[in-house]
Amino acid sequence: SKPHPRWASFSPAMEANTRWRHEVIRQLRLAFQSNILQVWYQPQIDLNTKAICGMEALLRWPGEVGFIQSPAVFIPLAEYSGLIVEMGEWVMDESCRAYKELSSLPHSPERVAVNVSMPQFRTGNLLERVRAILAKHDLPGSALELEITESIAMDEPENVRSTLLGLREIGVQIAIDDFGTGYSSLGQLRALPIDCLKIDKSFVDDIDADKSGLYVEMIVGLAQRLGLSTVAEGVETQRQAERLQHLGCTIAQGYFYAKPMPLATLKEWLMTRQA
Ligand code: C2E
Ligand code: CA
Ligand code: CA
Ligand code: CA
Repeated sequence: SKPHPRWASFSPAMEANTRWRHEVIRQLRLAFQSNILQVWYQPQIDLNTKAICGMEALLRWPGEVGFIQSPAVFIPLAEYSGLIVEMGEWVMDESCRAYKELSSLPHSPERVAVNVSMPQFRTGNLLERVRAILAKHDLPGSALELEITESIAMDEPENVRSTLLGLREIGVQIAIDDFGTGYSSLGQLRALPIDCLKIDKSFVDDIDADKSGLYVEMIVGLAQRLGLSTVAEGVETQRQAERLQHLGCTIAQGYFYAKPMPLATLKEWLMTRQA
């Protein structure tokens, strides 16, 4: 009989899933090329001064119905297909443009945070691209923060480390996203030039539960000892904000303050905000 092909163990459901994935990737590429994608911005609030200190850029795919419009669904597919390299660069370009546009307004953010995926590091020219985009918008490196996950910090540690060192040299800040949910060891993180730990929403959610409170306390304590700032993500209630401030967390981001919004809406939001 014929040799059993490896893919023969794939079930019809898996095959349908593969077809579905490629269909979403095709539509995503089309949306990107047709300039349909948007970048929205979510304010980050200094817990002590209550001033807006930053904003996170988040990709949006408007018009799509159903759950594929969630970045949590389409970003992994963009990574898998490599499309994230071009898209991520576009997000950075847009974010710098937005930052520049806001900079003349009162209460404008000090920096914009952009999510960066592993394939962007793998190109080997991320540092060069960041430099070019900053130069294009005539912005200092300090205007930009890059959010990377713990898994990026672990994958190709040497390549990532040298890129991050180069970024630090031009003043770009580095935040570890979803801190505490990945599989990196403190030893691996220690080797990297990091400025900020983003405390994952899951810890913020039940901060009142004994254990979560302890984890937040531990992460904030670690950050303080290392001279890093902390951003709590997914802050939804005043109570959480107060607890976080009490525990020494420096910055908060979440629906309690504002949802991600288009640039025009953020402008209005900034203008109606009292000092
Ligand atoms: P993330 O980086 O952890 O981003 C935070 C997510 O939490 C965002 O989801 C944001 O809209 C949401 N969020 C913020 N505050 C709250 C809150 O108070 N409550 C709740 N329930 N959610 C809140 P979003 O926009 O759906 O993005 C999901 C993920 O997709 C992001 O997670 C990030 O990993 C990825 N992503 C989004 N935009 C980009 C991008 O431009 N590049 C890359 N590489 N990844 C991106
Ligand atoms: Ca993020
Ligand atoms: Ca996050
Ligand atoms: Ca998260």
